Amino acid sequence: MKKIAYFDACVETPEEIILAADMLPIRLFGDPEIGIDKANEHVPPTHCVWARNILEQAINGLDDNIKGVITTHGCDCTNREFDIWLECVNLEFLFFLNAPLKRNETALNFFMNDIKELISQLEEKFNVNITSEKINEAIKKMNKIRKLLREISSFRVDMKLKGSEFHALVKKVQQSDKSKMIEILELKLAEIKERKPFPNANLKKVLLTGSVIDDTEFIKFLEEVGFQIVIDDLCIGTKYFWNSVDEDGDPIKGLAEFHLSKPIYSTKFPSYERFRVLKNLAEKYKVDGVINIAQKFCEPVLYDHPYFNKKFKELEIPYLFVEMEYNRESYKQLTTRFEAFREII
Ligand code: SF4
Repeated sequence: MKKIAYFDACVETPEEIILAADMLPIRLFGDPEIGIDKANEHVPPTHCVWARNILEQAINGLDDNIKGVITTHGCDCTNREFDIWLECVNLEFLFFLNAPLKRNETALNFFMNDIKELISQLEEKFNVNITSEKINEAIKKMNKIRKLLREISSFRVDMKLKGSEFHALVKKVQQSDKSKMIEILELKLAEIKERKPFPNANLKKVLLTGSVIDDTEFIKFLEEVGFQIVIDDLCIGTKYFWNSVDEDGDPIKGLAEFHLSKPIYSTKFPSYERFRVLKNLAEKYKVDGVINIAQKFCEPVLYDHPYFNKKFKELEIPYLFVEMEYNRESYKQLTTRFEAFREII
């Protein structure tokens, strides 16, 4: 089956459009175990390490079944990197989807028009017919996945599901056949319901936020230190299934509204709106603390940090900010900081 990959810092790519084109949407993730020599020839040393890692993979050549890549407006880094992809990545289809920052009527119309442009370019390039019926069918499939993930996610609070297991599951959904994933998620949900809570008396309940965190090994590392992620504000997490797409109206409008109605993500401004989202989550889930992770040179997350630091202090909610390299060796070097945070909360 042909695949269309998406390079997206905040999961605003409408996968339904790719499914309606009878192709498989695949989210691109970094690989913390590779070097990034080739990408370094194209970007300055202060370019985000995660985006740079994906550029390296693309220059080296993606899976042969990936016939194109959609880059969706996330942060300045991904936006500008798209221009580099145009120059040095060998793919027959590259499309920049301009997901707007604003959340008003003009932004909605703008986004709808860009989705329509994506449809027409996919139809022309791959000789397919993306009908409203097919989009509606895909919306129903994806809504089913979102509903299942919301339900499964809640078992993190009940201490029946480790944050790392959930993270790996959401990653798998973003890279696999969606019909198969519905079956897998249904089985997983039934199995989790039968579980007893794991020992948790010494675990600290945290809210995890920040940049794209796509290495499940990092989540396992946090668990080894003594944290359980009961809730997150991540694109491999709640931002993927926060709400559902309207199944009754114009499907393109429904998709645009769905993405623009999600709570603001870390790649977007302003900081006070981001803070409001995090504060509500921290209070609702009664977390012991908030961990904010920035991939090295992730400007949007670095920008938010001083404001968050001040506001969480005012609320007396323990808050830890860590900027890290995109490689597994760096996790070990951070152990002391995480252990110290665990001690104080
Ligand atoms: S980690 Fe930060 S800078 Fe890098 S792509 Fe994501 S939002 Fe952009």
